[in-house]
Amino acid sequence: MTLTFHPYDQTFVDDVRAGGPDAYGRPAEHAVSAGPGNPCRSCLRDIPEGVQMLILAARPFPEMQPYAETGPVFLCADACRPWADGGVPPILTTSPDYLLKGYSADHRIVYGTGQVVDRDRVAKYAAEVLSRGDVAYVDVRSARNNCFQTRITLAP
Ligand SMILES: [Zn+2]
Repeated sequence: MTLTFHPYDQTFVDDVRAGGPDAYGRPAEHAVSAGPGNPCRSCLRDIPEGVQMLILAARPFPEMQPYAETGPVFLCADACRPWADGGVPPILTTSPDYLLKGYSADHRIVYGTGQVVDRDRVAKYAAEVLSRGDVAYVDVRSARNNCFQTRITLAP
């Protein structure tokens, strides 16, 4: 079972970098990365220390509905290469554990799938949840701050 770890929607990323609105309709804040702990949701790597970054609200769901959580994310301020590699991306190796949750095709939490998982078990647990049949994707969030990290699907 091969997993795909998705970079954040590129159209939204391009738009926010160009000064467009975040999920709350505001322009992104500009900051300078402190290095580790500042994960970019496009390249799925920590933004290097001293490099310009954006802080913005993101809602990784297609429409407003009760389960469409909105929260803070970071992006490299300048264009970066969206994650397209195999394996587990670097931003899922920096914390001891992550919160994983399965969602249905209509973007609702599939209750019973939410679990805080040790970083070494992220891929294994995601594959287990995705094999259920009623789960369309698994979202990975910070286990401590609840910030959205990345989305996982089964590779086509
Ligand atoms: Zn980046």
